[in-house]
Amino acid sequence: QLILGIETSCDETAAAVIKNGTEILSNVVASQIESHKRFGGVVPEIASRHHVEQITIVLEEALLQAGVTYEDLDAIAVTEGPGLVGALLIGVNAAKAVAFAHGIPLVGTHHIAGHIYANRLVQEIQYPALSLVVSGGHTELVLLEEPGSFKVIGETRDDAAGEAYDKVARTLGLPYPGGPHIDRLAQEGSPSLKLPRAWLDGSYDFSFSGLKSAVINSLHNAEQRGEKIDPKDLAASFQASVIEVLVTKAVKAAKEYDVKQVLLAGGVAANKGLREALTEAFMDLPMDISIPPLYLCTDNAAMIGAAASVMFEKGKRSGLDLNGNPGLDLEVF
Ligand code: ATP
Ligand code: MG
Ligand code: FE
Repeated sequence: QLILGIETSCDETAAAVIKNGTEILSNVVASQIESHKRFGGVVPEIASRHHVEQITIVLEEALLQAGVTYEDLDAIAVTEGPGLVGALLIGVNAAKAVAFAHGIPLVGTHHIAGHIYANRLVQEIQYPALSLVVSGGHTELVLLEEPGSFKVIGETRDDAAGEAYDKVARTLGLPYPGGPHIDRLAQEGSPSLKLPRAWLDGSYDFSFSGLKSAVINSLHNAEQRGEKIDPKDLAASFQASVIEVLVTKAVKAAKEYDVKQVLLAGGVAANKGLREALTEAFMDLPMDISIPPLYLCTDNAAMIGAAASVMFEKGKRSGLDLNGNPGLDLEVF
């Protein structure tokens, strides 16, 4: 089974060919970070324009590197949401065009299902599984009782983890995206500042806006007193708070739902501190932990092909009326 995955939900134009849902034959990612950097974040209009320029080149490159043609494919998978609507539409329209032209089945795919199933490219998934999704727009605990079924048992009530990383980084004057810079500084600093942890009364939900404000306030207060806070210590203190909450809730949920595996997913899964803390926390617990390599944590199309393969096997097919859906629901897509 060969699936061509296409991903254009944000600022990466990506295409990949996946064999049997588990093997990467090609994985092409054209990143736009350099174009958005000077604006301090992703500019939707610029993102759409780059996708239009890149999509055919990226598609051809993915097929070329995999050594296959359209005639060899069993399905074309594309991210239908969530994401920026103008960006999603470029991928969806390209997918529809090639699916129609070559008579190949089309499978609309959820971006977060993709982040989760990136783990299938690393090892066989054992169900029930729990995924800790930490990305630029999402922070969720998702229960997978069987292949292709998703139950959100907790989610963020305000900022996503990645969003908080990027905002704190911006306050410290670090370039976009700030997550990797905070991660690097945190390794060099010590978590000496007292910052809040949002436990939310034992709920599996998350909240990071209070923490973000606390970081910004401590910087401003120190400035007014004419003092200096070491950015390394601030980064380490912020990261310690984020990680402690994420790991504690993931451990509690993994035990309560008695899962066989815990799957780390999303761009923030690239975080060194989080990867170490999660590995350590599950060391003596019976469930396996799966942590994808960095290139499968941030946006890519291999993960879309992997997720679509599961949905394709369950019989999912999309019509040529498929549309980009910025608010696509993970539980019912
Ligand atoms: P979503 O997947 O929710 O639609 P997105 O696709 O924009 O959002 P991803 O590409 O999955 O998000 O992740 C990008 C986020 O990951 C950014 O916020 C970035 O700062 C963060 N990130 C990347 N590497 C690290 C790291 N090492 N530490 C912390 N955060 C990181
Ligand atoms: Mg991105
Ligand atoms: Fe993403």
